[in-house]
Amino acid sequence: MDEMPKLKMYIGGEWVEPSSGEYFETIDPFTAKPWALVARGNAEDADRAIRVAHKAFKEGPWGRMHPSERAKLIHRLGVLMEENADTLADVEVRDNGRLLAEMQHQIRYLPKWYYYYAGLADKIEGVVHPCDKPALSFSRHEPLGVCVGIVPWNAPLLLFSLKAAPALAAGNTIVMKPAEHTSATALKLMELVEAAGFPPGVINVVTGFGKEVGEPLVTHPLTRHVGFTGSTATGSHLYSLAAKDVKRVSLELGGKSPNIVFGDADLNNAVRGVVGGIFGATGQTCIAGSRLLVHRSIHDEFVEKLAAFTKSARVGDPRNVQTQIGPIANRMQYERVLGYVDIARQEGAELILGGKRPDLDECATGFFVEPTIFAGVNNDMRIAREEVFGPVLSTIAFDEVEEAVAIANDSEFGLAAGIWTSDMKRALLMSERLDAGSVWINTYRDISYTTPFGGYKKSGIGRENGVEGIREYLQTKAVWIST
Ligand code: NAD
Repeated sequence: MDEMPKLKMYIGGEWVEPSSGEYFETIDPFTAKPWALVARGNAEDADRAIRVAHKAFKEGPWGRMHPSERAKLIHRLGVLMEENADTLADVEVRDNGRLLAEMQHQIRYLPKWYYYYAGLADKIEGVVHPCDKPALSFSRHEPLGVCVGIVPWNAPLLLFSLKAAPALAAGNTIVMKPAEHTSATALKLMELVEAAGFPPGVINVVTGFGKEVGEPLVTHPLTRHVGFTGSTATGSHLYSLAAKDVKRVSLELGGKSPNIVFGDADLNNAVRGVVGGIFGATGQTCIAGSRLLVHRSIHDEFVEKLAAFTKSARVGDPRNVQTQIGPIANRMQYERVLGYVDIARQEGAELILGGKRPDLDECATGFFVEPTIFAGVNNDMRIAREEVFGPVLSTIAFDEVEEAVAIANDSEFGLAAGIWTSDMKRALLMSERLDAGSVWINTYRDISYTTPFGGYKKSGIGRENGVEGIREYLQTKAVWIST
């Protein structure tokens, strides 16, 4: 076997070995074989990265640059991403098994985050306040300092960019930690950061495991902001760690989102939306529409159509353009998903489709699970309450609008919801009553750099994207002048 590439960390504008000297394997989920070695960072590496980021913020040219100069660099990074989209997509697919065609599309769209926030960098304006004292008071918005970004494995470069672009545009420096399963694209991006000409220490990437390198980043005394995307359990833990030093935190966490279909919906359109909502990215999205609430009048017909459409989806090699559903991103998650299938069966849910590994030669080695549909679910079952983060849909029947709202909101999560109906008045009234940070009407899983995204309840704190996204990375200073 050819020697595997060794991926070093990027700290202070240099490619560095981990201080432990250790590397760990990163696995291709389609072959289930390792393809590269990733540096195993620890507290010493975290300390080094935070210190260089702090120095770059306080002493380097970054802190003194006019925002329009910083914007130029952020914009240039976006351009380089566009030019290198195919390479980045190849690496992303190798690391997390997402569909190549989808990643090529996503990575071509991602630079828009860099362009949008580069555009905002020199429009962060202060305010002069009407003052009732013999003084002039005004306020301005300033960066926080060193921002730590910790992201999961399901959409590595997308989730990296949602944090990096606004944090940098606000004038901060950043230390990013990708998930241990998917570090490669963040490091590939650092080659483009170098080529774009960012000053050393402005953007740093440390790799490794949560406890070993993630926690030291969060608890470091020079860290001023923690931006975390991942599970609610880890997010809540990091929130309590950050609270000790009163650090600013934004959390993008889990979900158990309802997709609600009424009898007057365009059913073919709704079937496509529901399938895309739960089986897109093999169910590994925080916004997966994992609870399907269907009006009883169309329940049987809808489930039948849904099963037929899902059955026709091609499961297999993520690099094949014909493939519609790829593997699960890692072995642990694969086992967890199959575990939830067993739980649902034991709870008495009716298996309509899937529920096992596909019986296909192409899927013999990878971490594959068939797209799975359960009917006869009630909202008290674990399969309706806990996040599976895989291709498993739970179907619940309802009779009245009130009942649908009650079931939808009966969840500790509140990330997203979908409504499928031709009655726009009903949809709009319902959108007000759903506990969800995003509500989609006759569509699902749309996100954009322009539109705030985030969770209600245990799905998170703060917002990414849009103007709200950059506010997370700014603090306000009031200045008083005696008159
Ligand atoms: P996870 O919480 O296990 O890990 C996420 C990241 O946190 C990884 O980089 C991991 O190394 C790190 N981490 C783990 N323990 C840590 C610790 N003690 N200290 C510091 N860092 C630590 O989540 P996951 O399983 O990788 O990702 C799936 C979860 O992410 C799901 O719950 C999903 O809903 C959520 N997610 C949310 C959004 C959103 O925007 N709301 C987007 C994508 C994924």
